[in-house]
Amino acid sequence: MCIMQDSIIKAIQSLDKEKIKKILLYKNELQNELFKTARKVRLSGVFTNKAELRSVVELSNICNQKCLYCSMGHNKNNLYTLSDDKIISIIENLVLSGRRTFLLQSGENKNQKFIDTIANCCKKAVEICSDIKIILCMGNLEKEQYIQLKEAGASRYILKFETSNAELHKYCRPLDTLENRLNCINNLIDIGYKVGSGNIIGLPGQTLDDMVDDLVLINKLKLDMVSATKFIPNKFSKFSNCKMGDIDITLNFLAILRILKPNCLIPATSSLSIEDKCGQLNGLNAGCNTLTIHDGTPEKFKKSYQIYSENRFSPEEKYCTDIALKAGLIPMQSLL
Ligand code: SF4
Repeated sequence: MCIMQDSIIKAIQSLDKEKIKKILLYKNELQNELFKTARKVRLSGVFTNKAELRSVVELSNICNQKCLYCSMGHNKNNLYTLSDDKIISIIENLVLSGRRTFLLQSGENKNQKFIDTIANCCKKAVEICSDIKIILCMGNLEKEQYIQLKEAGASRYILKFETSNAELHKYCRPLDTLENRLNCINNLIDIGYKVGSGNIIGLPGQTLDDMVDDLVLINKLKLDMVSATKFIPNKFSKFSNCKMGDIDITLNFLAILRILKPNCLIPATSSLSIEDKCGQLNGLNAGCNTLTIHDGTPEKFKKSYQIYSENRFSPEEKYCTDIALKAGLIPMQSLL
């Protein structure tokens, strides 16, 4: 490592607030140096030059939260929930095509009948193929429900805290609190899930100080997967007129995450590609090592799952494999 790279690593590992705020604003040569450092750190971590490819199945767009940056909780039209038969047949087909990691995602819905359905699907999926990995992303649930889903076969859970600023959190997610969100994350960790969490970069009102605080929180939590998504002003959400998150700050944050967490999975999410076709490749070059293939949700429901916008970018397998290889990473079916 050269002196510049050493000083970047030192600033990030010691969570030096003022230095990290400067690093978040790096561009051009300095940014290249940051990304180069992140890639070296990735290579030194447990996953070295491997990237996980997973399929997402969007189970249901019914959501009882009303996040201001998302339209799903406000949407009362085109509601859908996939039947258990449908979910199982999707997983079965993808297993036959070689997939082993599945991200089962839905709006937040504690309805016990829904949880029972998903638990049943997890159980059947593991019976179909014992070495599949099920990641759930279903929001805040009761501790007993998390336990039920884990016992049914899910091994990982993604629950982003979105922002560590309690006030901003309350503003953006009016039906929840940061405290409650963190309780849920800690419950998941206690139960024994491999947990993923992270933030959104560019939320209206968010500052660079908030982002550094997010890093401090990420560093405190016992996480196996960490993430940062770029804020996208979903045109059907309350934040439709707000400015999009800054791509350079998002990529710099991802590189910082990699340096802070060498052994975590970090996704290059499709939010990176909303404005720039090379966004996800740039994410991989900034230290990410996970890609989500959008081949699990039936075509007719994709437009109804509107976290970002109706014009989502839905990467397919070939695209994900190609950009992983282009970034010098070996695509793998499962890393955790
Ligand atoms: S971001 Fe998630 S929890 Fe919030 S409204 Fe959208 S689907 Fe619901």
